Order: sequence, then structure tokens, then C-alpha cells
Amino acid sequence: MADPSWTARVITLLPEIYPGALGHSLIGRALADGLWQLETLGLRDFATDRHRTVDDTPAGGGAGMVLRPDIAARALDAAESGLPRERWPVIALSPRGRRFDQAMARRLAEGAGVTLLCGRFEGIDERILDARAVEEVSIGDYVLTGGDLAAMVLIEASVRLIGRVLGNPDSLCEESFSHGLLEHPQYTRPTAWEGLAIPEVLLSGHHGRIAAWRREQAERLTKERRPDLWRAYAGAPADEDPEGAAELSDAHTIAATGENKKDDDR
Ligand code: SAM
Repeated sequence: MADPSWTARVITLLPEIYPGALGHSLIGRALADGLWQLETLGLRDFATDRHRTVDDTPAGGGAGMVLRPDIAARALDAAESGLPRERWPVIALSPRGRRFDQAMARRLAEGAGVTLLCGRFEGIDERILDARAVEEVSIGDYVLTGGDLAAMVLIEASVRLIGRVLGNPDSLCEESFSHGLLEHPQYTRPTAWEGLAIPEVLLSGHHGRIAAWRREQAERLTKERRPDLWRAYAGAPADEDPEGAAELSDAHTIAATGENKKDDDR
């Protein structure tokens, strides 16, 4: 039997909003082609009263409502994959969680799937996180109304890394974060537009010079915009001025031209 395809299993109060954006473009086509699967479990289906209640007031007082652990546990147990967590993590979307990034997307894509618990209101009773060993993941330092958009971000970023989902997998090689750098600027026709020309080197047809230019630009942008990424890339200590690591960039520029491959994931 063929391997079952990568599966995102989402526990949510709003199953009707799926697949939403995930049903369109390359990701949507891959879903229709069975390269990945999306399953939703409506949290209210696990309630036990006739009002289908899933939440209650916060212990200790305060505004809003909190999702009940017993209802969430029933949903999580029903969603259980039977696979070890390394192959199929169980994640609650939460602004308090570990920050989602490209490395996490890559790890998820390499597994068999993921179960996502979407919060709403004030959040989820803490006990469910401990009792079911649920990892909390955040998509950034801001607060959304619920976990569904965060779940979709996590799914989209992971699914596009699954083999055969993208028409041209080469586009993954150079993009932002794939080598610890932001991507170089991109241009297309017309070659001159509103008095602005495409950098000449890109029209030269000289692959070595183009690769070196792109790498220089990627390094410049990363240094300017994301000193945190630049420090990690250049191997500099966290408290060092990113400009101070500039000499290190030469080795990486050479690496881009293939003369001196480093031992990272390039
Ligand atoms: N009271 C919570 C706090 O201050 O941390 C915020 C709860 S938020 C209004 C409701 C739900 O939205 C959360 O339980 C979570 O599922 C989701 N959410 C909000 N912001 C998020 C973020 N940055 N990343 C992931 N999920 C988020």
C-alpha cells in the first residue's frame, strides 16, 4: 500500500472556514491531488450538554472565557494518530508558544502529519497542555482572536515543503531562510520601468557573477534588516555588532559560487 499522505488534523471551533486559503493555488491543487490531507474536528462535537458548551469562566476571575480541558481532551484523543510525537506532533496555537520558523516547517514536513488545537477566547485550560504533552507554538508576537489563521499559516508553510507540492522545487533552494539569509531582490520584464533598470549583472548571462551578486545582496539585506539572522549566519556571538562580522561574509560569498562549500545545509 502507498504511504498515506501528510495530514493536518485541526481541532477548531470553526471547522466551516477550512480549507479557506489552503484550498487555492499550488497548495489547494496539491490537496485536491491527494499530496496532503486536511481533516477538521469541530470542538463543539465533543461537548456533552445540549448547548454544546466548550468553555467556562476563568478560575480566579477576569475577563473572557477559557476552553475546558475535558472537552479539548476528548477532541485530542479522537485526533490521536498513534504515531510517535517526532513523526506527528500535537501543537496548540498560542501567542505564548515557541516561535514558528522555517526550520520548524521543515521538520513538520518531514514527518507524517500534525494535530493542531486552535484556541479562542482567553485561551485553553493549562492542564490539557501538560496532560496530553501538547507543544505551544506562536506565529509571532501579536495576539489574534483565534488559532485558525495561525494554524493555516503553519500548514501552508509546511505543506509547500512536501515533495511534489511545488511545481518547481528549485524555488525552495534560494528563498528566504533556506540558507539562513533573506532572499536577494527579484526582477522581471520590462527591463526598464519608470526610469528604473534591472541591475545589469542579471542580464549578463554570466551565472557565476549572477550568483555572487545575489549572495552579496542577500547578505546586505539580512545584515540591514535582520541582525539576529545575520549573527546566527555569520557565527558571531549574540552581543556582537552585526557589522563587526562583515569580514566573515567573504567566506560565505565564496561558498555561493561553489568554491568553498561550508558544512551547513547549503
Ligand atoms: N489570552 C491569551 C494570551 O494573552 O496569551 C490570548 C488568547 S487569543 C485572544 C485566542 C487564541 O488565539 C489563542 O488561544 C491562540 O490559539 C490564538 N492565537 C492568538 N495569537 C496567536 C499567535 N500569535 N500565534 C498563535 N496563535 C495565536
